[in-house]
Amino acid sequence: MKAAKFELEQTPSLEQALQVLAQGAGMARALAGGQSLVPMLNLRLAPADTLVDLSRIVELKASSDTGASLIYGAMLKHAEFEDGKLADCSNGLMQHAAGQIAYRAVRNRGTIGGALALADPAADWLTVCTLLQARIHLASSEGRRVLPIEEFVLGPYMTALAENELLVAVEVPKLAPTARWGYYKVMRKTGEYADSFALALADGGEARVVLGAVDGAPLVLGQAAQAMLAGTTGAALADIVERELRDAGREFSPAKILLHRTATCRAIEDLRKK
Ligand SMILES: Cc1cc2nc3c(=O)[nH]c(=O)nc-3n(C[C@H](O)[C@H](O)[C@H](O)COP(=O)(O)OP(=O)(O)OC[C@H]3O[C@@H](n4cnc5c(N)ncnc54)[C@H](O)[C@@H]3O)c2cc1C
Repeated sequence: MKAAKFELEQTPSLEQALQVLAQGAGMARALAGGQSLVPMLNLRLAPADTLVDLSRIVELKASSDTGASLIYGAMLKHAEFEDGKLADCSNGLMQHAAGQIAYRAVRNRGTIGGALALADPAADWLTVCTLLQARIHLASSEGRRVLPIEEFVLGPYMTALAENELLVAVEVPKLAPTARWGYYKVMRKTGEYADSFALALADGGEARVVLGAVDGAPLVLGQAAQAMLAGTTGAALADIVERELRDAGREFSPAKILLHRTATCRAIEDLRKK
């Protein structure tokens, strides 16, 4: 099947892009790298009569340093993180995670903003940005706002983005140089979305464990993080993680509990090796 007819708006101006979205009455959509949007248009799953191409807007491809955090423009591509072309405040986690997304052809065009705006529950950036407590910068013709990622992601493919809004940047607080992270992604073969994706972080006296690919917003596992801080290992750690997953209100099947429990324990083990 081919996409229905649409107009393509290409502008170097963020303001103009926001105007087009404002006038689109819900039928204008942002086009980032097209990695998900183009297949969705071809399958007629994303009704749109106007696409607003963001690729010429310089502001969306820039990064900046506020002192306490780094701000990454929404149009920065997975490959730019993977190749270490951008300043890093995650002690290498963002670079490592970017390199595990799909395969290189997708990473050459897919963007951090597009991935977060789409909010596929298995998307790697969703889990990484939740672990790092990122803040999402949004803009519309009416003004700007900043949301913590946990208020931005509302559920599977659901975000706080209004029809007339663009995700313009992702702000990531700087980790201490001594902070360590652990990573474990389960996928059937390279290039596929995760079946389970766990991340652990120890930053000074603080710990954080986040689980992705959980049919909704990533789960922040506070009890697993406390157990990690306390040095709990083996079966005792697995029991704590399993209990937390069962109490999370996500109706995981027994097979999913086993998968997510294993990924979480292995992410914690990965952190402990560093
Ligand atoms: C074969 C394949 C395998 C993949 N595997 C993985 C994987 O393992 N892990 C993973 O995390 N991802 C994976 N992806 C997703 C991919 O990496 C991209 O992140 C995702 O497709 C978004 O692509 P894009 O940035 O080109 O956005 P587009 O496809 O252009 O846009 C996606 C959606 O977001 C909206 N949008 C885009 N940018 C903005 C913005 N700045 N503001 C507001 N709305 C916006 C669009 O309107 C559209 O609805 C895979 C994709 C493919 C095709």
